[in-house]
Amino acid sequence: MTEQQLREQLVEIGASLFDRGFSVGSAGNLSVRTRDGFLMTPTNSSLGRLTADSLAELDHGWNHVGGPRPSKEVVMHRALYEVRPEAQAVVHLHSTYVTAVSCLAEEGPVIPALTPYFVMRVGREVPMVPYFRPGSAEVDVELRAAARQGPAVVLANHGSIVAGESLEAASNAAEELEVSAQLAFLVRDRSVRPLTEAQIQELLD
Ligand SMILES: [Zn+2]
Repeated sequence: MTEQQLREQLVEIGASLFDRGFSVGSAGNLSVRTRDGFLMTPTNSSLGRLTADSLAELDHGWNHVGGPRPSKEVVMHRALYEVRPEAQAVVHLHSTYVTAVSCLAEEGPVIPALTPYFVMRVGREVPMVPYFRPGSAEVDVELRAAARQGPAVVLANHGSIVAGESLEAASNAAEELEVSAQLAFLVRDRSVRPLTEAQIQELLD
């Protein structure tokens, strides 16, 4: 894809996530790797109202080199790219059900592996990192450790961050994670039949 195509795709996916309620107001941010570095949604921008010629441009060293200033959550995006070799794009959302799950005081897997698409898009289990103020550099060590376990991480009292081989893949996985969190709430007071270890292993193989 050319840089222009990546810009247009980032705008299109941002609008789609916004229109379907995966992001509200100025919450959430997207980034994608380009030949020259990275493109990222600007600080305080709404995913629903991005324009292709007004995205933050960063070089390979994450210096801001063009366009508006990037989101202050850029530190989290950088951590995922540097830990996940397959990462070509990162999607960060404050989607409602993942954020709800991230506020629960319970122990154990944050979002259970109930469906095959969860396992295929997100993995066996999604780790959660403790709460840090948005934009804080202190999240870095915990986030890197969590992202080594898989492409998706839940941020306590905040939302999700997901890496993918493309913007579309990262967005699909972030949506799958949100719907899985919704499912977990729907069934949580009932007796649940999660996927068995053999079923999970078959999907991962
Ligand atoms: Zn955030």
